[in-house]
Amino acid sequence: MSECIFCGIVGGEIPSRKVLETDSCLAFLDIFPANRGHTLVIPKRHVLDIHEADADTYADVAATAKKVADILQSKLNSEGTTIFQMSREAGWQTVFHLHMHVIPRWSNDGLHKPWDIAPGNEAELDQVLQQITK
Ligand code: 5GP
Ligand code: ZN
Repeated sequence: MSECIFCGIVGGEIPSRKVLETDSCLAFLDIFPANRGHTLVIPKRHVLDIHEADADTYADVAATAKKVADILQSKLNSEGTTIFQMSREAGWQTVFHLHMHVIPRWSNDGLHKPWDIAPGNEAELDQVLQQITK
């Protein structure tokens, strides 16, 4: 059996609840859902994260996530959608096979943003922009 849980799901060694399958991607329900219908979208071919993925693979996963978001919205009558993609341990990734979380949202669902909302320091914003773009 593959050491990667999601490769095990692609290979059928680990069962999953499939929402959508394309030639290159698989979408299945998350077993620890943040909300009703929380779905993960993965490329079938193992790749670690956003930095290791080539642009076409990432675009394919994003396009499949868009299809899944539309399916969930129409079938579950969700009022909004939140998409997360965690990369690497510092980015909160826990399963090291690229995936996007597609989370149907309702205004009263009780989920909250994982960071405090506060205005940035103007000088720090200028400094980081300079570092990013120079
Ligand atoms: P991450 O924290 O890496 O962004 O997300 C990994 C997600 O995979 C978690 O939300 C977790 O609930 C989900 N997950 C972990 N193991 C399994 C599994 O065996 N099956 C399914 N369907 N989801 C899993
Ligand atoms: Zn894998």
